[in-house]
Amino acid sequence: MEPLAPNARVTLLSMGGTIASVAPAPGAGVMPVLEASDLARAAGGLEGIDLVARAVRLMPSASFTFEDVLALAREVEAALAGGATGVVVTQGTDDLEEVAFALDLLVDDERPVVVTGAMRSADVTGADGPANLRAAVLVAASPSARGLGALVVMGDELHAARFARKTHASRPAAFSSPEAGPLGRLVEGEVRLVTRVAPLSLGARVEVVPPVALLRCALGDDGRLVSGLAQAGYRGLVVEGMGGGHVPASMVGPLEALAHEVPVALATRAGSGSVLRRSYGYAGSEIDLLSRGVLSAGALEGLKARLALALALGGGGERAEVESRFAAVVAAAG
Ligand code: ASP
Repeated sequence: MEPLAPNARVTLLSMGGTIASVAPAPGAGVMPVLEASDLARAAGGLEGIDLVARAVRLMPSASFTFEDVLALAREVEAALAGGATGVVVTQGTDDLEEVAFALDLLVDDERPVVVTGAMRSADVTGADGPANLRAAVLVAASPSARGLGALVVMGDELHAARFARKTHASRPAAFSSPEAGPLGRLVEGEVRLVTRVAPLSLGARVEVVPPVALLRCALGDDGRLVSGLAQAGYRGLVVEGMGGGHVPASMVGPLEALAHEVPVALATRAGSGSVLRRSYGYAGSEIDLLSRGVLSAGALEGLKARLALALALGGGGERAEVESRFAAVVAAAG
């Protein structure tokens, strides 16, 4: 058996979501109502681990604001400052990979921060919440999970926050890491890693997160949404281009004009892989866009690139500082 950290003390911070949801009446839609202590109880006795449970929010994850996420990050930091071996966050799965990635950038600590949830509510046959929570707590208490940044643990798999994606709307096996595969698995309660990743850090304290838009480029798009973004108050844009980072030629003008006002980053809508740098030379290609001041999001998918840019902006400073903070995250995320 893999040894737990000596005197392992794990803090559970609950945010709501399906893992905390039951139907208020037969036939009614489920709602988050369960307390952190209810979740901890359902996960069963975890020998050798002192589990301290605390509710931070009780809500569907689709309604999280950046204030909620920053408050959660402060709670994680407080738990670690208080001596926790690791921290588990339970929340809705809808934007779980985004919150995990935000914590990855915001919390600078080698101890595990593990985010989990459930695809089936607590009151149905085969509810997956208790097993996911149990697995997440075991990972949080495991010395081998240190130094990996924030992790998503679902279905006995460990995913790096930077790679994790919700790739199915309803199945219990909803999470995967299309770019890299899981970092490891839990087997009989033991963490078995197949690979490791270097930790990420934003390197700045964030108090407020400015609005950054995320736009998916589609066939025949003429870029008219791009033109109004700065006036609408957006402080940055991530555009998910086609393939290796390509947009219709008609979008180039609006994107270049916006990039003069606010940082604009290019990701790929392909689902995995990186934005190219030096392959295609036509109007709207990656070479064209990068030469016009658009930033590369590298292998970061659009959702993660948007968070990296928004948090880089939230770190303050001149535009050059923001862009180099963003570029450092892109480079480290590989
Ligand atoms: N709607 C839920 C949420 O809060 C879905 C889930 O937890 O799976 O994200």
